[in-house]
Amino acid sequence: MTKFVYSFGKNSTDGNAEMRDLLGGKGANLAEMSSIGIPVPPGFTITTDVCSYYNDNRNNFPKELEKQVWEAIASIEEQIGCKFGDPENPLLVSVRSGARASMPGMMDTVLNLGLNDKTVSGLASQSGDERFAYDSYRRFIQMYGDVVLGVEHYNFEEILADHKQGKGVSMDTELTVSDLKQIVSAYSEIVEKHIGKPFPEDPTEQLWGAIAAVFGSWMNERAKVYRGLHNIPDDWGTAVNVQSMVFGNMGSSSGTGVCFTRNPSNGDNVFYGEFLINAQGEDVVAGIRTPQPLTNAEKSSSNNELPSLEEVMPKIFAELCEVRKSLENHYRDMQDIEFTIQRDKLWILQTRNGKRTARAALSIAVDLAESGLISKEEAINRIDPIALDQLLHPTLDPNAPRNVLGRGLPASPGAATGKVVFSSMEAEELATKGEKAILVRIETSPEDIGGMHASAGILTTRGGMTSHAAVVARGMGRPCVAGAGEISVDYQDKSFSASGQIVRKGDVITIDGARGEVILGAVETIQPEMTGEFGVFMDWVDNVRLMSVRTNAETPEDVRTALRFGAEGIGLCRTEHMFFEPSRIISMREMILAIDEKGRRAALDKLLPFQKQDFQEIFDLMGELPVTIRLLDPPLHEFLPTKEEEIIEVASAASADIGKVKDRVAALHETNPMLGLRGCRLGIMYPEIYSMQCEAIFEAVVYVQNQKKITIVPEIMIPLVSSSGEFRIMKDLVASVAELVSCRTGKEFGYLIGTMIELPRAALEAGKIAEEADFFSFGTNDLTQTAYGLSRDDSGAFLGSYIEKGIFSKDPFVTIDVDGVGELIDFAVKRGRAIRKDLKLGICGEHGGDPNSVKFCKSIGLDYVSCSPYRIPIARLSAAQAELVKPKDLVD
Ligand code: PEP
Ligand code: MG
Repeated sequence: MTKFVYSFGKNSTDGNAEMRDLLGGKGANLAEMSSIGIPVPPGFTITTDVCSYYNDNRNNFPKELEKQVWEAIASIEEQIGCKFGDPENPLLVSVRSGARASMPGMMDTVLNLGLNDKTVSGLASQSGDERFAYDSYRRFIQMYGDVVLGVEHYNFEEILADHKQGKGVSMDTELTVSDLKQIVSAYSEIVEKHIGKPFPEDPTEQLWGAIAAVFGSWMNERAKVYRGLHNIPDDWGTAVNVQSMVFGNMGSSSGTGVCFTRNPSNGDNVFYGEFLINAQGEDVVAGIRTPQPLTNAEKSSSNNELPSLEEVMPKIFAELCEVRKSLENHYRDMQDIEFTIQRDKLWILQTRNGKRTARAALSIAVDLAESGLISKEEAINRIDPIALDQLLHPTLDPNAPRNVLGRGLPASPGAATGKVVFSSMEAEELATKGEKAILVRIETSPEDIGGMHASAGILTTRGGMTSHAAVVARGMGRPCVAGAGEISVDYQDKSFSASGQIVRKGDVITIDGARGEVILGAVETIQPEMTGEFGVFMDWVDNVRLMSVRTNAETPEDVRTALRFGAEGIGLCRTEHMFFEPSRIISMREMILAIDEKGRRAALDKLLPFQKQDFQEIFDLMGELPVTIRLLDPPLHEFLPTKEEEIIEVASAASADIGKVKDRVAALHETNPMLGLRGCRLGIMYPEIYSMQCEAIFEAVVYVQNQKKITIVPEIMIPLVSSSGEFRIMKDLVASVAELVSCRTGKEFGYLIGTMIELPRAALEAGKIAEEADFFSFGTNDLTQTAYGLSRDDSGAFLGSYIEKGIFSKDPFVTIDVDGVGELIDFAVKRGRAIRKDLKLGICGEHGGDPNSVKFCKSIGLDYVSCSPYRIPIARLSAAQAELVKPKDLVD
């Protein structure tokens, strides 16, 4: 018989941490924790296989499930000493989701299940606290009504609010037993009104209803959106965990909280968390009451006046410190722990690897490796290369003036400047216009997930460091200031007020998620430092990595940034980008529009000094590091004048007739410029253009070699080659200019000549081209475009639909299409190296900075990847990770 139910607890533990796929993260961890002696309330996990079965079989369960569930319930009853449905001594359970990957707040949960009009009295007498029993009952009806029976939350909220108003009280805790009894019957009535039958009293019916609802919530809209954003496959399914309830709302010796074994914002090795006395778990996460700090240190650093757990329950705190140690040592990673104290007894409800910012992830990985708990290789594998991006961007200048409007908790670091919006919809609207939004909410809920993703930063006025906003923002890498209580939001008026100032929708503010500050207007920024833990980590990365990482850069500023980020050369210097400056574009246009060689040469003579200067600057910055310069490759339309005044300007620079210039523009018009007179076709048709560029390169080499007493070997790269014939002609041209410059200057210099492989035909003819070429650089932007016949400029309009429909798993312009474009590259590599063993191979398309593509490049034996400056650390880390994976896992 298939095993669908896995028990955990003091008596028996069927599962373990390895069984994540089957038991979900939460289930596997509960099993693992109970096996190492952590005080976990007993329970059982129903496997993810049942979720798939349920969703594939029109919401039916496998036959064998029922028997296994009842056996597991019996085991809980035995451990806890209560009975499910027993009016005298009832066992209450929670029913929660738990997928393989954490999806906080996305699926449903039901607590206090097993309560009804009879068992509520049993609970009251067992606990000696009638108020608590009825409070639990009203919470249960509300949750079950909402999650299982589809009676929306607000119906219950209204009843509760009306009752409080009627009684003239503002806090739930001020309601008496008789209030709660009235609320319970009002809740039951509203449920009956909505579903046309009474609230289910039978605990068995309740249990199966909740299990079905939690499995069903895998397919709800917000869970689907979350999976889309985090690349979680639909067919994973969720497990369901049924666990004995423990109560944090049993008076002042009870409480509930969450803690991190280290600080999740900056990674510091300090215990960190918050809790509420006399409350249930959802109260902490919902951010409705301001939680108390865990430790005294935290209390003083956060200006939180409330007493800490360390102060009010020192024995429990000491026990929790032990749990912290055991769990972190056992899981060898920072843990996010949920706990409940029921009448002075500590229970651990869950532990998982804590979500953290990139900064914290790096700091924790370095510290764990330095303390010997994990290896350096493991540390390298733990950092998501893309998340490094968070550390590479400018931060607010601490010395710049700030008009601070208010302060909150530093919930997720980083700074963001943008326009104030008050709803997720407004944030998404601004994002589609390419503008930055700061989402300002009293508190956020799972419905806000899309808006939070679309925002540059998030500000809430209520809630703590583990509120929904804080947890989700950290996971997404969005800066967040949470619980800024001095700020008062008016949704109606679309404004907030703080420090006597009114800020309206559309006004610009800055939030500093590291300091918890809300600032009016924009603030100046400074460049990030590549030192400290980041430097240590990147040294480890470089020791492991074998593939080189170069940059795509042509301006001195980009080259400097790239060097700071660890570039080991330039893999692509796009020379056409050097001609867009106003002082150069006219001569460039003049050259393109000239009707004969004489006219072109006249314009090229004006461009030569600029080019020489460009290359001198680059060689000066790069020293002896390799520099690949690509000769001109413009689709002509990028340079043609379009406006009347531009045409007049060019005509006057060339002393030509305006009408003739217009005729020439018309004559050069191409229907399909991407496949037109570009790349080496330009060099074939107008050799004087490439001659000028080579002259500038070689003269710059001679100049900088002399100046710096170094050896520079430039790599000249011919674009858009489709046949070996084209390449041979271009190679001869480059050689003749080199000879000329050498004779003229009387200096010797070396150079390499190679080609881009960016057309399928070039890949297929790679063997022949390699007879002539020193290197290949794969131009995967054009190679993707031409292999698919998919315009890189126009495909954005429908690529999204292709991905949604599952035709493409990823955007092929972002991640190399291994099956098609990748095959062409692999073919060219093999053909090329068969002819020339030492053929230098690299990639310079945008894929050079994409982690999966970098791993692919490693798997086929490329020597280097080249990417834009800000992607360099990402590429370095991806290249190191590529060395650490088993060959069969290289491409995922
Ligand atoms: C490419 O095609 O991949 C490439 C690097 O060249 P460009 O993007 O300049 O066409
Ligand atoms: Mg190209």
